[in-house]
This record gives sequence, structure tokens and C-alpha cells, in this order.
Amino acid sequence: MYDKFSMVADDFINDDEIKATLKYADENKHNASLIKEIIEEAKNRKGLDHRKASVLLACDIPELNQEIYELAGEIKKDFYGDRIVMFAPLYLSNYCVNGCVYCPYHAKNKHIARKKLTQEEIVKEVTALQDMGHKRLALETGEDPTNCPIEYVLESIKTIYSIKHKNGAIRRVNVNIAATTVENYRKLKEAGIGTYILFQETYHKESYLKLHPTGPKHDYNYHTEAMDRAMEGGIDDVGCGVLFGLELYRYEFAGLLMHAEHLEAVHGVGPHTISVPRIKHADDIDPTAFDNGIDDETFLKIIACIRVAVPYTGMIISTRETKKVRGEALKYGISQISGGSRTSVGGYVEPENEDENSAQFDVSDNRTLDEVVKWLMELGYVPSFCTACYREGRTGDRFMSLCKAGQIHNCCLPNALMTLKEYLIDYASPETRKIGEALIEKQLLNIPNEKTRSVAEKHLAEIEEGKRDFRF
Ligand code: SAM
Repeated sequence: MYDKFSMVADDFINDDEIKATLKYADENKHNASLIKEIIEEAKNRKGLDHRKASVLLACDIPELNQEIYELAGEIKKDFYGDRIVMFAPLYLSNYCVNGCVYCPYHAKNKHIARKKLTQEEIVKEVTALQDMGHKRLALETGEDPTNCPIEYVLESIKTIYSIKHKNGAIRRVNVNIAATTVENYRKLKEAGIGTYILFQETYHKESYLKLHPTGPKHDYNYHTEAMDRAMEGGIDDVGCGVLFGLELYRYEFAGLLMHAEHLEAVHGVGPHTISVPRIKHADDIDPTAFDNGIDDETFLKIIACIRVAVPYTGMIISTRETKKVRGEALKYGISQISGGSRTSVGGYVEPENEDENSAQFDVSDNRTLDEVVKWLMELGYVPSFCTACYREGRTGDRFMSLCKAGQIHNCCLPNALMTLKEYLIDYASPETRKIGEALIEKQLLNIPNEKTRSVAEKHLAEIEEGKRDFRF
């Protein structure tokens, strides 16, 4: 039976409830009065439950779809302003004991080059990332208790935080590793991770079991209940996501929101972020072999509907997507993007040659971080390298209260401007810097509190003189 308070995956991601939701959404996809009512409710900016949000996703009345997109854009602006948080993935190891049929790391793939970074290699990779200007990383590994045990991940995090090269520093390490035990989550928390990210891949249990035929990841319930264990282990910020293309997107959408409702009901705080990866070509993987691929229009609708349904949850898009799609997605809800990414193990120091493919998926946006930063600013966004909340202990519900109190503009905007200033001075090309300096001047006026604004101006001048790492 559906029960969002239950700790059993089959209850909080209940198949009958999802099917009933999809039926209800389908029956009401032309129901203009109900859809308008739901849009009105969403305007309160308190989110929508999975049933109502699913009706919006199913809606096929063009004028109302337009309203949904506009509302998503407004909500995004209200909660996130113009800021876009920047990050890069760092692939530590691609050894894997699982059999995930969509992933090139699967154990039976004998032609992918298996690699695991040594601590010395990590220093080199992170130095290269710091030289690009990155401050926030997402660590990625395959699942392999022998080649990539938790101790290795912990040691790597320690190494990463210890590297101080020129003015560079990685100030927040998010971690995307396989579902694990409460004890291991506790260790990750102690190591000072930011968000623990784990993609559900698919919420459809039957498909999940087929798509993960072998290895520990086969256990659907263990995987689906991982966020509860992470929170029990003291991790406040968790990041959810599904791999779009594996199953019917409407099913995944309802499941994703039910997962968020479950976390909120049980732990008092929903996911910190939601990622929206789509399946891509990779070594040994042909994305067209999966029947449920979604076109760009549907993809953007999903993003807009997630934005409307969970206004406080950050949304992440990676370089799996093209510049064009990323540009559109930013309008409707995306708040974090990666830039200059390499998805191979060791790829920041040594870009791979053709026959040595250890990459996890083909990248569609190959621009450098500087190009992405410049592009964002030209679109009117403020690229942010801020990591202040996590370092000030504003995680979980404390971050959410800041967000809900509308204090983001007095806190996150100045932090974004100060970290952007650091980037411009230390790493940007002259042209990017010129655009950025003008943007900072203009955006300072958007800080509502006068005192905060003048402190930010003072810090910006100090950054110019060589000081670093200010935060509100
Ligand atoms: N191994 C970890 C786990 O078991 O959850 C996660 C790390 S994996 C490096 C990161 C994510 O990449 C996976 O969760 C999956 O959603 C995604 N991924 C795998 N194969 C992909 C493909 N062919 N195209 C796009 N994304 C893919």
C-alpha cells in the first residue's frame, strides 16, 4: 500500500499509486479547469504533490503548457535569481562489479580501459581542475568493493581538500557512489562531503531488476532506500535523479516526486538537488537500444514541471546535453551546470585518445569552463563558484529555511558575485573578465539589503588586492 512514511521502498514508491497517478493524469490532460486550478496552486510557490504535478506534465493544451513554462521561469527567478552554480565531475575509478546494461562500466565490458587514480594522480587532476577555476566537484566511481573500497574514496576526499595550488581550492566535494551502509555514509559525512548523489536510474522495479541483472546494484530496495540510510548517517543534503530513456518518463517523474515527498515526510527535508541525465552513447552502449528515449521538448517540459513541483530543490544538468538544450533548460529550472567536464578517469590531465576509451558517456558540450562562464554571463546569468552554505553549516532544512525566507538574494547573490570575482581575476580570459566585471557592477544593485551590499563591495575590492574566500 502507498505510504510515504514507510521505510520500505515498495510502499513509498508504490507501483499501484504511480499507475493510478498516470491514469488520473491521462484522464485529465485536456481538463482545462483542473489544470488551471493546479497552476493557480503552484503559483503559491509551495510545490505540488506527484498527482497534481503529473497532470501538468500530461497537459496537452498548448496555451496552458505555455503558462506552465512561464511559471517555472518565474519560480526559478524568485528562488535562484540569476545565479547558476558551477561544478565539474571527477572520475576516480571505473572498476565495476555490476551488470547495468546501459553503462559502459558494466563488469562484462572487456574492452573499456579500466583505471583507478592513485593519490598522486588525484593531485594532478585536481590541480588541473583548480587551474580551470573549479571550486566544487562531484566524485564519481563505479562500484567495486575490492578495487574501490570506501577507504579509497575517503582517502581521496582528504587528498582533494588538502590541495592548495596558487589561489585554488576545492571547497565542496559532492559524492556520487553506489548505495552503501549507514556506517559508510557516516564516514562520508565525517570526511566533509557536500551532497551525496545517487541516481535511481529507474523507479520501475520490474525494469530496474532487468536493467541491473547482476551485482549488488540488482537489489532495488537497497538502492531505493539508500537516501534514508544516508540521512540516518547524518548526511543532510542528498541528490536524486533518474536516467531518462530507460523507462516511461511519466512513470519516472511520478516516482521522483514520490521519493522527494517521502524524504520530506520522514526526514523533514526533501532532496537538495535533482539531476536529469538522459542516456547517451558510450563504449559498448547504444542509446537507441532503449525504447524510452525522450525528445528535447519533452525533456524541457519535465524540467519545468519539476521546477514547479519542488521549487526549493536545486536542479542539475551535465555536459550530456548540448549547449542548445542547456541554454533552454536554464530558463525553466536548472540551477547548477557542469563545465569543461571530462568523463574519463584521468581525463583532465590527459585527454583520451580514440582507442583508449574509459569515459562514462560521450560529452555533448565540449566547451571549456571559460567559454561556459562567458556564455552564461552573456545570457544574463551569474556563474557562481559559491560553496558558503555547506561551509557555514547551512545544509538540509537550514538551507531550505534560508530559501523559504527569501533570503537568497541577500546571501547567495553577494556570495556568487564574490566567487565570480575570484574566478575572473585568477582564471578568466581577458574578454570573459571584461564581461564579468560589468556584470558584477550591475548585479550588485540587485542585493536588496544596503548594508550587505556595501560589505560585498568592500570584499570585492579586497579580492582585487589579493584576498580570497569571503562569504556571508
Ligand atoms: N556507480 C554509481 C552507482 O551505482 O550509482 C554511480 C556513479 S555513475 C559514475 C553516475 C551515473 O551515470 C549513473 O548513476 C548513471 O545514471 C549514469 N550513466 C551510466 N551510463 C550512462 C550512459 N550511457 N549515458 C548517460 N548516463 C549514464
